[in-house]
Amino acid sequence: MATFLVVGGAGYIGSHMVKQLAKASHQVVILDNLTTGFRPLAKYGELVVGSLADTGLMEQLFKQHDFDGVMHFAASSLVGESMTDPAKYYHNNVANTLNLLDVMVRHQVKHFIFSSTAATFGEPEYTPIDELHPQKPINPYGASKLMVERILQDYASAYGLNSVCLRYFNACGADPEGELGECHDPETHLIPLILQAASGRRKAITVFGRDYPTEDGTCVRDYIHIEDLCTAHGLALDVLIAGKQQGAQAYNLGNGQGFSVQQVIDTAINVVAADGCSLIIEEGERRAGDPAVLVADAARAKSELGWQPRYADLNTIIHHAWQWEKKSSGITFEPVL
Ligand code: UDP
Repeated sequence: MATFLVVGGAGYIGSHMVKQLAKASHQVVILDNLTTGFRPLAKYGELVVGSLADTGLMEQLFKQHDFDGVMHFAASSLVGESMTDPAKYYHNNVANTLNLLDVMVRHQVKHFIFSSTAATFGEPEYTPIDELHPQKPINPYGASKLMVERILQDYASAYGLNSVCLRYFNACGADPEGELGECHDPETHLIPLILQAASGRRKAITVFGRDYPTEDGTCVRDYIHIEDLCTAHGLALDVLIAGKQQGAQAYNLGNGQGFSVQQVIDTAINVVAADGCSLIIEEGERRAGDPAVLVADAARAKSELGWQPRYADLNTIIHHAWQWEKKSSGITFEPVL
């Protein structure tokens, strides 16, 4: 049994991670300021409500616990907001992360897993995107995450802080056991928006553009199930703790398979039909900053971490997300037999 600190463990990805760690019999301390996290999602760890900006609290936490490693999921992550309020992104995602890294260095905690993003790559120059793809973010959100990636390289060589950055493509789905799932406010992601339209919590789903150079004209993305994402984090931590990897490493995480917005909608229509639900689809303009295709090459994570996605098919991803939407919308559905 080991003890881990999960920062942002009351959020969407962090809460699933904490559950996986707890199921593997580890002790987990969650630090979350609950600005975008939810107390009920933090059920598998000891929740400390607070901020990374509170250096006194951080010092106290690291004195109280002998952490074997730290996972960091807490970040501001709305691309549009990052354009209009970059200060929030650089303070929260960069300065606050520096506080965390510094307290780790002071207390000789040497294993760090960082939640990074495909947004560090910017406009794709080729696809699928591997780790050698140039990183030229086109918004402050991506830039803030890339800054931390760079900081981690220097902290590895100067202070021996070993880290793995995991760059997510489209995290989605929900806990297969139905206990946890996505609750963003505002919700901006395609799959939960579609399912909220199906449950009646939203009027319709709007397709942002049908004139992209893809097979059906809608954008293609790489949807990776939250459970698979968390499994990769667990493997990365194991590799660091076993000393098999040192320095600052980075891996792209995705299914390696792209699905179009239309394919996601079609699959969702089938999944929700079993509960007698349907969808209203509206046509919209392209959303600014959306590349036509974003697909990961996750070969490196597979070969070096031994990672293999378990829930790679869209149907299962949407089925799990729907299970969560039904639960959180509180609506009783009549299954269609
Ligand atoms: N999308 C859409 N309608 C929506 C939300 C998203 O058509 O209401 C599209 C969006 O343009 C993108 C894809 O769905 O091509 C995935 O978007 P999301 O915001 O979920 O993730 P992103 O790829 O931006 O990280």
